[in-house]
Amino acid sequence: MAIEIPYKIYLEESEMPKAWYNLRADMKVKPAPLLDPKTHKPATLDDLSAVFCRELAQQELNETDAYIEIPEEIRNFYKMYRPSPLVRAYCLEKKLGTPAKIYYKFEGNNTSGSHKLNSAIAQAYYAKKQGLKGVTTETGAGQWGTALSMACSYFDLDCRVFMVKVSYEQKPFRREVMRTYGASVTPSPSETTEIGKKILAAHPGTGGSLGCAVSEAVECAVSNEGYRYVLGSVLNQVLLHQSVIGLETKTALEKYGIKADVIIGCAGGGSNLGGLISPFVGEQLRGEANYKFIAVEPASCPSLTRGKYAYDYADTGMICPLAKMYTIGADYIPAPNHAGGLRYHGMNTTLSELHAQGILEAVSYQQTDVFAAAEEFARIEGILPAPESSHAIRAAIDEAMKCKETGEEKTIVFGLTGTGYFDLAGYKNYNDGKLQNYIPTDEELAQSLAKLPNIG
Ligand SMILES: *Cc1c(COP(=O)(O)O)cnc(C)c1O
Repeated sequence: MAIEIPYKIYLEESEMPKAWYNLRADMKVKPAPLLDPKTHKPATLDDLSAVFCRELAQQELNETDAYIEIPEEIRNFYKMYRPSPLVRAYCLEKKLGTPAKIYYKFEGNNTSGSHKLNSAIAQAYYAKKQGLKGVTTETGAGQWGTALSMACSYFDLDCRVFMVKVSYEQKPFRREVMRTYGASVTPSPSETTEIGKKILAAHPGTGGSLGCAVSEAVECAVSNEGYRYVLGSVLNQVLLHQSVIGLETKTALEKYGIKADVIIGCAGGGSNLGGLISPFVGEQLRGEANYKFIAVEPASCPSLTRGKYAYDYADTGMICPLAKMYTIGADYIPAPNHAGGLRYHGMNTTLSELHAQGILEAVSYQQTDVFAAAEEFARIEGILPAPESSHAIRAAIDEAMKCKETGEEKTIVFGLTGTGYFDLAGYKNYNDGKLQNYIPTDEELAQSLAKLPNIG
């Protein structure tokens, strides 16, 4: 007899993961190493430790340990807002009239409104353990800055956030949440760093970009004693921390004997998607199961679907290590789309390698189609989704509609990374019929890709 599946599958605290899963350990062909931006030699632990906390740098370079224990302090913090529910979207299935079974892992149940807190608390913990005074970072849409300011206040660390100027001006409430948690927030580019001054001189009045803000945050960290730089996405250490999402999802599915067919996530720098799919990709690489994995990105910033797999700079200032990844070029400033968390020019190296190997598929959507899916979902499932997350909703709905045509009863799992309360300007534009789609032309992308560093 089939077991009745509840609307929400919750795990017990005792079922929460005690170790993060490091997918690279199970990959036969590993992602290409990070390179020092000056010498172009593989970045060493000492190179990385100048910028990042030492233990995080170790995690960044660790390709051999499949499991890395989650320190007890971090597990205890996780217990305040995890395990996150795996929700069966019964209402959405019914509305779509699909035979597909749809599940989503909801990461929006904390003040940062996103999955970013899973890595922020880990990064703040290691910074504290190293005896640092504080950390610096950048934030685009504001979710990462919020998550990090929460984590830093918990561990009593100073937190300096460089916020992309357009977001700083458009999202004053995000800024106030960060200040409430004790962070200092500087609009980027700013006069407080050399690189900021240079960018302002070259582009007066610019609204900034994530790449500029990264450069300012790194400069601020390396020029202040007792500070390190932390990053909320893109890096493999962040994917590692985010594996809690996938590990919990896997346990929840197994509890009810459910086998997923399709697993979907939105992809900015790749951390939530990587975290969600890691344990399942591991199973597939070990020959234990088969899945279809789909990355969903905005048509305005299409690194996986239209970018090139090559070494590129991680930031505009060219101070971070070079990474081999799908990229549309570090200089490319994507159009001001409403999914700020997906506006990064490159993709995490592990996910890039999985895409190159044909294990990870990728699709892109324009923002009007994404907001249409967001509203359809909000009206029937009750949650107001973040525009970033809504990319995954769009793809999940489309997969479910394919099942309606074919009659296949596939099980679809997607990551619902966060809530959209700070994104109501985007919803307003959509409701007013004013939302525009920006799709780069082939010429624009070719121009940007022509500037990639020449590394064999
Ligand atoms: C930052 C963010 C993303 C994208 O980042 P990834 O590192 O690709 O996961 C997606 N959704 C939300 C809500 C975010 O805040």
